[in-house]
Amino acid sequence: MINITLPDGTVKEYPKGTTAMQIAEGISSGLARNVLAAEIDGEVWDATRTINTDVSLKLLTWNDDNGKMAMWHSSAHLMAEALEALYPGIKLAIGPPIENGFYYDIDFGEYSFSSDHFPKVEKKMTELARQKNSFERIEIPKAEAVSYFRKKEDEYKLELLEGLEDGEITFYKQGEFTDLCRGPHIPHTGFIKAFKLLNTAGAYWRGDEKNKQLTRIYGISFPKNKELTAYLEMLEEAKKRDHRKLGKEMELFTFSQKVGQGLPLWLPKGAALRERLENFLKKAQVIAGYEPVITPHIASKDLYVCSGHYEKYGEDSFQPIKTPNEGEEFFLKPMNCPHHCEIYKSKPRSYKDLPVRYAEFGTVYRYEQSGELHGLTRVRAFTQDDAHLFVRPDQVQEEFEKVIDLVLYVFKALGFEDFTAQVSLRDKENRDKYIGSDTNWDLAENAIIDSADKKGLKTIVEYGEAAFYGPKLDFMVKDALGRSWQLGTIQVDYNLPERFELEYTGSDNKKHRPVMIHRAPFGSMERFVAVLLEHCGGNFPLWLTPDQVCILPISDKYMDYSKEVLNSLKISDIRAEIDDRSEKTGRKIRDAEVRKIPFMLIVGEREATEGKVSVRRHGGEDLGSMSLEEFKTLTNKEITENIDEFVV
Ligand SMILES: [Zn+2]
Ligand SMILES: [Zn+2]
Repeated sequence: MINITLPDGTVKEYPKGTTAMQIAEGISSGLARNVLAAEIDGEVWDATRTINTDVSLKLLTWNDDNGKMAMWHSSAHLMAEALEALYPGIKLAIGPPIENGFYYDIDFGEYSFSSDHFPKVEKKMTELARQKNSFERIEIPKAEAVSYFRKKEDEYKLELLEGLEDGEITFYKQGEFTDLCRGPHIPHTGFIKAFKLLNTAGAYWRGDEKNKQLTRIYGISFPKNKELTAYLEMLEEAKKRDHRKLGKEMELFTFSQKVGQGLPLWLPKGAALRERLENFLKKAQVIAGYEPVITPHIASKDLYVCSGHYEKYGEDSFQPIKTPNEGEEFFLKPMNCPHHCEIYKSKPRSYKDLPVRYAEFGTVYRYEQSGELHGLTRVRAFTQDDAHLFVRPDQVQEEFEKVIDLVLYVFKALGFEDFTAQVSLRDKENRDKYIGSDTNWDLAENAIIDSADKKGLKTIVEYGEAAFYGPKLDFMVKDALGRSWQLGTIQVDYNLPERFELEYTGSDNKKHRPVMIHRAPFGSMERFVAVLLEHCGGNFPLWLTPDQVCILPISDKYMDYSKEVLNSLKISDIRAEIDDRSEKTGRKIRDAEVRKIPFMLIVGEREATEGKVSVRRHGGEDLGSMSLEEFKTLTNKEITENIDEFVV
């Protein structure tokens, strides 16, 4: 007999060789129907794998992330099985689960494949799922695995096998399909009740542009049809909110092949919006004791050799800019931090001068493969709302808290209400790989945890996720459609102060190293605007939105009065315009709706004689007729409701 410890701490005896599935069946058949995999001593296993020693066990269902992963990974295998049946001889590269669903990278050889073929593949998948074929785990010697894929002439699997050691290789087989795979998998294909193939994309083998381009097929699956339907509806809504579509309709930004891929061009309305965001943060930063600095867009190679960026990114990024002088090389700025370190070094510092907080809306340039570029979320030039704090070790916690305050202030003003703080700490077992003293790390890690706690943040702690140079806190924000985005990072850094030999004189008259904190509440202006656009579906908070008001005269007769209204609004700093086209009012309303203008003021005979405006909100609500003063009070109230003063 073996002892199995359940999550509630109870220990039960089972015969040796039992499986998680059998244990689940013993509890209830309802539970067993939902078990997708199991966590055995913290490792995810197939629920059908035999257990031969005392272990702790947690049954995993759709409600567990690892349960979902097993489901999606198994769905990738199901799709591969269907594809192989329909297109004999195709070669399979890799097929992992991802954040939402799964994909498989496939070399279709002579076949041409497109999303038009999805229905055929889905039909085959349904047929195979109904067979309830079990996922069978087979441990196999390397030589046999190699000969299997050699026979199949699958060079991709053979290349993957090269990296694996004998004794650690497993195959998974379901129905007629066998894959090189670590698992884990769900018990059988019948668990995959609802699925859909979503789209195809080109993907280079191993992500390398020099390699062959494969066809990546994305899909998603669920245990219930209802959940699939809800997901597909969400995707439809996401399409409507796609920032690339809204950015065009609202005339915020554009791209030009002539200017270059991944280099956004901000149009007047977008530039003004971005400026409002910047001014909003700048104002709060002044109150929080930040000092603005400005640095150039290029810097000597020496700077990045010193910072370590050259060694890390030099080869894979934009190549150096040369001058007529032999050996002189400059790089486009990939980060602002090294520049700020040099500003810190421009004069001697005493412990009394710290913290020093330098802020810059600094534009940086990073090379991304063209396939990775996406609207404003993945670009080659972007502006960070960057700042670097140089602090004494004893100030880390206080400064960290202040940065959190600033981030929360930003989130509130922009309507992000659902977020989690992800704290990345050292790997507990492997502390040698980190730079900086143990004392300092303990101090910083505790400071981050305590500040997050004090600020009442929902926190997830991830061990082993810290950078080698310091722990950090990332804000993971859920948008209106439930998608997660990483916005706002606060990173402690022991490395750059060391590399740049930064110092301050302590109260003991000795030299000490300051700690550096990098922080960017928005992250980058490009990405932030993209996320915000998709979050609010283009309905920005009133203080931020490009045009707050559109005046709609119902005929040319009321143009003079409309201009009076416009002037009066402008004097009160309300962004307004007149739709003076000779279109019908209905058409003007529809167009203002598409442009997401929060207020429409309709002006006709009655309004002009009474000196009033008829107010219609975006979305259709009729607020009735009111005086201009009343309307201004209304807008002011709304603005002050979502943006108050930042206080420290
Ligand atoms: Zn697999
Ligand atoms: Zn930095």
